Amino acid sequence: MKVRRPNLTLLKKIFLVDLIRGLFLTFSYQRPSLNYTEQYPKVRPKVAERFRGAPRLNNDPETGETLCIACNLCALACPEHCIEVGWERDAKGKKALTTFTFDISRCMFCGLCEDACPTPALELTQDFELSLYDRRDMKWDRQKLEEGNQPVVYTK
Ligand code: SF4
Ligand code: SF4
Repeated sequence: MKVRRPNLTLLKKIFLVDLIRGLFLTFSYQRPSLNYTEQYPKVRPKVAERFRGAPRLNNDPETGETLCIACNLCALACPEHCIEVGWERDAKGKKALTTFTFDISRCMFCGLCEDACPTPALELTQDFELSLYDRRDMKWDRQKLEEGNQPVVYTK
């Protein structure tokens, strides 16, 4: 005589076995003790040491003069043509920087310009807050680059 076995697939469906298994797996990863919430923007996160963010054109801290020697190497190194260096000859026939433009809208922060710079003039800082409402504001001039990006002060 043939013994009839219960239909396991049907039983699994009735008792929602697969759903319970899935929920068990999901909740096994839910550990509130491991959750971490960054309090940005009140507390700005610390970025990696080698992070490349907002560009800055450094001046000599003693003389206040620019460290840029207008060699144009950064502009030549840039694959996106983001940088324009303006210069003229001074009374001694030496190249002197006049204008410097850096288009952050096209920059991919690869750091090639910084690497090409033979002086510590051009630096990609750790400032990552670069959002702007107008694309036209993304072309930074020499003054803006020398002052450096000013961090937003959040009041709420
Ligand atoms: S970081 Fe790269 S893309 Fe940006 S300006 Fe420098 S070389 Fe050009
Ligand atoms: S920022 Fe550096 S590489 Fe660019 S023009 Fe000035 S000195 Fe040359």
